[in-house]
Amino acid sequence: MSDQQTGVEDTTAPTDSPSVLVVGGGFAGCVAALAAAREQPAAAVELLVVADDRFDAHSGTVDVLGYTGDEPVEVPLDALGTLPADHPYRQLGRDRLRAALSMFDAALDYRGGATERNALAPTHAGRVRPVARYPAGMAAGLVSRDEPMRLVGFEQTPDLDASFVADRLAAQLPYEVAANTVTFPGTVTEYPSGPVLAAALDEDEAPSGDVGQPDMDLAGAVPPDMDASEAMSPMMGGDDGGPARDPLVERVRPLLDTEGRVGFPAVLGLTDHDTVRAELADALHADVFEVPLGPPSIPGRRLERRLHAALTDAGVTITHDTVTDVETGDGRVRRVSLSGGQRAAESVVLATGDLTGPGLTTDRTGIHEPIFGCHVELPDDRSDWTGSTPLSEHPLVRAGVSVDTDLRPLDSSGRPEYDNLRVAGRLVGGVDYDAEQSADGVALVTGHAAGNWSVP
Ligand SMILES: Cc1cc2nc3c(=O)[nH]c(=O)nc-3n(C[C@H](O)[C@H](O)[C@H](O)COP(=O)(O)OP(=O)(O)OC[C@H]3O[C@@H](n4cnc5c(N)ncnc54)[C@H](O)[C@@H]3O)c2cc1C
Repeated sequence: MSDQQTGVEDTTAPTDSPSVLVVGGGFAGCVAALAAAREQPAAAVELLVVADDRFDAHSGTVDVLGYTGDEPVEVPLDALGTLPADHPYRQLGRDRLRAALSMFDAALDYRGGATERNALAPTHAGRVRPVARYPAGMAAGLVSRDEPMRLVGFEQTPDLDASFVADRLAAQLPYEVAANTVTFPGTVTEYPSGPVLAAALDEDEAPSGDVGQPDMDLAGAVPPDMDASEAMSPMMGGDDGGPARDPLVERVRPLLDTEGRVGFPAVLGLTDHDTVRAELADALHADVFEVPLGPPSIPGRRLERRLHAALTDAGVTITHDTVTDVETGDGRVRRVSLSGGQRAAESVVLATGDLTGPGLTTDRTGIHEPIFGCHVELPDDRSDWTGSTPLSEHPLVRAGVSVDTDLRPLDSSGRPEYDNLRVAGRLVGGVDYDAEQSADGVALVTGHAAGNWSVP
């Protein structure tokens, strides 16, 4: 088996165990590798990942189906019939989706699995968003809990304007949503500040930024009669290098009225999140929850860490490498070359994402899947890729690889291209992932099926 970090060995020699190579370490690839390893523990399952920030764009919640048209979906499994017949949910079916969710629930300690209804979670834009699964740290913030809440923002986290969010939520909810903004203990010169604040809470040490050389570019932003440290003063909460948790509690405790729950920007620790949240809740005598922020998302990074822990437990080899070449023949993938060696995996799962990542590339001639050259379904005439108005349907957003019911990529005449190659996640075409808010659910169900079907 290959070296865990470098993938330097050549595994082209046949082995007795079935072997599966999963290309792409986003949510879909992780699920596919996990499903293969759990389905067939004797299989040699290898997940190829590149160091990127895909989970930084992940809210940490799992969307299955948030909307059909403009309408929020209450029970995703009941709404599948409203989707087009070739949608992956329709192709794979409710039972397969249920099985994929069960595997996720068993492998990761997430909430939401006790019901098939979507939960409603607040966003940092003051919206209410339907989600199928959410981490424990967001549970107390669900808006279905009919109880006032207080949001506490940090000066150093302008992505969450607590008053703005509270006003917007209060307009939609039958109870009070109060808000305050406090200065996080210590000095923070980085923006976005999430990773620094999370580390400060993990280590219980207030950050001490270098005000003389701030990471933020203040050139031109500092008035001539003000020095840099004065300009940075909103970012400095005192207590540099001292503890972070107690001073934060001291700033928040006097603000709490009768609210039994208090929400913070989602930076409450990365590696020691459970302890941080429990300590804050204990000291504030209130349930503590997080409101997800934009990238870099700390709950997204936690999800990635949990997935990798589950993969390691399941015996999956995680290799940091990328595909450099492939050899195909007789309708099969024969060999996959990496920078650090070659693989003759019996089955390959391609989970490299869509146009928002390197999974699909575009040039003057069209949109391409760059590794296997899979056919990408799009109208021939480029002017038909987008609708006539910004609000009309844009076929481009559904660009991706068409698959058969076994998730094998189809060529331009609708025939499976390779017997032993399956496609999972956002690379699967025909879905408007953002409008439906279904990217995670499709990644789950296609990843689960592709992983299961890749082992005998
Ligand atoms: C712009 C954006 C917004 C998003 N918004 C939300 C949101 O609001 N809520 C939410 O929950 N999730 C959100 N997500 C997360 C996303 O929708 C989910 O991750 C989804 O489940 C799709 O996952 P995927 O694994 O198919 O694709 P991706 O997450 O794109 O992962 C594909 C992975 O494959 C890797 N890869 C590509 N080519 C190669 C190669 N040759 N070799 C090795 N690796 C390769 C890529 O580097 C990447 O890591 C967002 C993602 C993006 C990009």
